[in-house]
Amino acid sequence: MGDYAILLAALLALLAGLTIGKAWERYKLRDGRWIDRRKARESPHYILGLNFLVSNQIDLAIEELTRAAGLHSDAIEIDMILGNLYREKGQVSRAVKVHQELLQRPKLTKIEHAYVMLCLGLDFKSGGFVDRAFEAFSEVLRLDPKNHYALVNLEKLHEEQHQWQEAWEIRQRLTKAGTAAETPRNQEILAFLENERGLEALKRMDYRAAARHFEAAIDLDRKAVPAYLNLGDTHSLQGQPAKAAEAWEQVARVAPDQVFLAFDRLESIYAKLGTPERFPEMCRRLIAASKQDWRARAALSRHLAAHGSAREALDLLFEALVHNPHALIIHEAIWKILLDLDLDRSLVERYIELTGQAVFYLDPHVCLRCRYRSTELLWQCPHCREWNTFVEDRIAPAQDAEEAGELGRQRGPDATAVRSR
Ligand SMILES: [Zn+2]
Repeated sequence: MGDYAILLAALLALLAGLTIGKAWERYKLRDGRWIDRRKARESPHYILGLNFLVSNQIDLAIEELTRAAGLHSDAIEIDMILGNLYREKGQVSRAVKVHQELLQRPKLTKIEHAYVMLCLGLDFKSGGFVDRAFEAFSEVLRLDPKNHYALVNLEKLHEEQHQWQEAWEIRQRLTKAGTAAETPRNQEILAFLENERGLEALKRMDYRAAARHFEAAIDLDRKAVPAYLNLGDTHSLQGQPAKAAEAWEQVARVAPDQVFLAFDRLESIYAKLGTPERFPEMCRRLIAASKQDWRARAALSRHLAAHGSAREALDLLFEALVHNPHALIIHEAIWKILLDLDLDRSLVERYIELTGQAVFYLDPHVCLRCRYRSTELLWQCPHCREWNTFVEDRIAPAQDAEEAGELGRQRGPDATAVRSR
């Protein structure tokens, strides 16, 4: 117990140090008198509140911090945290009220004002009040032009509104303010935003502008796969099939594991160019370069089946199956060819043998608390020791908010996180 107390004291000292900052900032001149801002922080409620916060017990944290805030109303960060906790709990109007009241406090410093504004912006954003969130984050930037959180949130709001140009401009600001280590990630995001701007130009049928944006995206990030795909589409629309093929073939060079996204396009453009043999040739090159490439095998198989080589097509699918026994599209392609071959008994037996050897998840259950996996439904998790936390993990499309909320109420707050793997 003694050790624990020392450890706790050290942790709290650290937390308090982080929150308070330099010692001389403890005292603040307000209404012509010095006040000691430590009082609230030294109350047991503040300390308990922080502890509950650390252990993610939000309701208890709110209770204790509310008491601490009542003792001394000068420590604005307690109310700031309280407001944020209400927001996290989904009580947006309450969060807005707490933060707006903070803005009414006299003698807020510029930085305090900016931080309360930021909290308010997050409240509005989570409540879906887009315009007011825009205003709040813009106000933060007026007070603190390099505020990273305000910039990132504004960028996301613009993205949600499909205002790609504006989002791109903000990412430029973030890139300039960022460190060298952050540059590749920033370039990658800028490339995605350029790609979106290109898609917009494509929608307007402004092919030259579209191509410019896609090329700019590739310059920013050589692995910007969607930009290559869209650049090829643009060339194709401009009546330049050879240039289109060239753009799509680049994907095989920069991101060979994603070139399958260009398979359909390449297969049809090669046929259009009068050189259909280039497609199986490319697939064979990909298979030779990467033995596990089941997608190239499946694509080559489909091509061969369509050109009358069913047996060779089936062999390729059996090989693909060894590398990815869970891919339903391989099984479906196999069933189709087996039917076309009148269910040749020896081939069906080979298929059954191959699937029998494959490792499937027999009955996948997963702990909602720690994600421990089990083949059977367990009542207590052997890893985190929690009771009744297992759900069956099925592959399913993401659910809409209403359904997810319904599930959340049935199985606790994390139930929706594991629906797909
Ligand atoms: Zn567990």
